[in-house]
Amino acid sequence: MAELLKTGATMLSETCPECGTPLFRKGKETFCSNCNKPVVIIQSAEQEARLVTDRVFENSEQTLLSKIQEVNVAMKNENDPEKLIMYGNAMSTWLGAIEKLRRLRTQNTDS
Ligand SMILES: [Zn+2]
Repeated sequence: MAELLKTGATMLSETCPECGTPLFRKGKETFCSNCNKPVVIIQSAEQEARLVTDRVFENSEQTLLSKIQEVNVAMKNENDPEKLIMYGNAMSTWLGAIEKLRRLRTQNTDS
């Protein structure tokens, strides 16, 4: 623990939910020196809701990215201009959605 404090970590009043050891915070990360892993402390319902929202955004982004990848593969083997336009439109829509999701996630974590 003394070593941890030397690195600039601060000891918190909260304890590890798994082993009961006081938790440390360094930068934005909270971790347990005993379990040697990061711990997420949920302080309020509002914060918990924010975490859930963030996970939903992250999930949606991953879905969109995987769809873009699928369309990208399909586009490579497609020569029909109409279908290519369709794929292009889909990609453009999804990229716009990802952009919005990223913006919302930043707002979500900043507020
Ligand atoms: Zn622990």
